[in-house]
Amino acid sequence: MKYSVNKTGYYGNFGGAYIPELLYPNVKNLEENYMKIINSASFQKEFLALLKDYVGRPSPLYYSKRLSDKYHINLYLKREDLNHTGSHKINNTIGQILIAKHLGKKRIIAETGAGQHGVATATVCAREGLDCIIFMGETDVLRQKPNVEKMQMLGATVVPVKSGNKTLKDATNEAIRDWINHPSETHYIIGSVVGPHPYPDMVTQFQSVISEEIKKQLEEQTGSENPDTIIACVGGGSNAIGAFYHYLEDENVKLIAVEADGLGLETGETAATIAIGKPGIIHGSKTMLMQTDDGQIVEPYSISAGLDYPGIGPIHAHLFETDRVEFIRATDDEALKAALELTQMEGIIPALETAHALAALKKIKFKKGETVVINISGRGDKDMETYRNYLAKINEKPSEERLFIGMYSVPTSNIHGADTNVNGLFVP
Ligand SMILES: *Cc1c(COP(=O)(O)O)cnc(C)c1O
Repeated sequence: MKYSVNKTGYYGNFGGAYIPELLYPNVKNLEENYMKIINSASFQKEFLALLKDYVGRPSPLYYSKRLSDKYHINLYLKREDLNHTGSHKINNTIGQILIAKHLGKKRIIAETGAGQHGVATATVCAREGLDCIIFMGETDVLRQKPNVEKMQMLGATVVPVKSGNKTLKDATNEAIRDWINHPSETHYIIGSVVGPHPYPDMVTQFQSVISEEIKKQLEEQTGSENPDTIIACVGGGSNAIGAFYHYLEDENVKLIAVEADGLGLETGETAATIAIGKPGIIHGSKTMLMQTDDGQIVEPYSISAGLDYPGIGPIHAHLFETDRVEFIRATDDEALKAALELTQMEGIIPALETAHALAALKKIKFKKGETVVINISGRGDKDMETYRNYLAKINEKPSEERLFIGMYSVPTSNIHGADTNVNGLFVP
């Protein structure tokens, strides 16, 4: 396939495996074995059974009547939020824990931002009875507390990381450091389509079930397996590539990836890697990277922990360079508005990451009546603290500004204590 990884682990100009010598045996072992394992009958049988009976797949494809009417399109929502543990991340961790088992690894490590990958990893480790250590930036430990508590209850050790701006990049650095120190017994379960080859390809394969299902479900519901447009948010890019994968060769299907723009490009407080990044190397692969002229990483910022990352999967850098995928941006505010819109019009509280994809509804010029699929990558339970602060802030504004959310009028004092900082912890 035109967009697949080549034998040396590259997608066009991006990818590869830039690793310290100490990790070479691990990465080489994985590279030599992952396809054999994935294609074996025993792996396929166990993987598919777990996706069905443990994760709850296929996830529904839901027709959103009210948003369709509002935006004059036919909008379908791919409900990855309904998966066990609340996001698409579990598709990948199920696949990787089976790989770890086949490789005889007993100790699992992972990085996490929003905590969804940490929870999904701790979950599969509990199921297999394997040791699990999760690295998480201290900022994220604070803003995604429910997920930290879940990981701990599942038996994982959560290690708060205090370097850098204490978010996803820093957690990944720490996980890699741990891996270098314990290479022989440890498997590192990376949570997105990032890292050295073969991780981006392996994670892509596990997440591609999303577009495989969309094809079948759209065919059943509309008579055609192709929508006009598919939209997904992109941090590292695993839910996006999962939703795009089986459509990559079908150039009639427009693919749109939404990056987190934080407070806006012009403020410098952004995580929109494709918009401001240049080619560089991060966490083992060559990709687009937010960096200074000297090649130092620029600290990203987004309200959404899962998108707060200065890199992007190499396959996305390639899809950008070849113009196959259009990359747009949504700010914190635009995402929050979109989250509220979905919540109040469809009764679905999305994850803050997903809210960036939903914000595209206001940014794209659609043809009247076109079929659009948005990947609902996760649910919003973990983000209630941020949403609560946002709602409180809206309520303190003049009434016209409140209009867009309709009748919402709970007084601030009913939402949280008077001493709470209504600007939230997260505006830098
Ligand atoms: C982790 C996460 C993301 C971002 O990761 P990708 O690899 O870009 O998909 C998006 N949405 C949710 C709900 C997440 O948990």
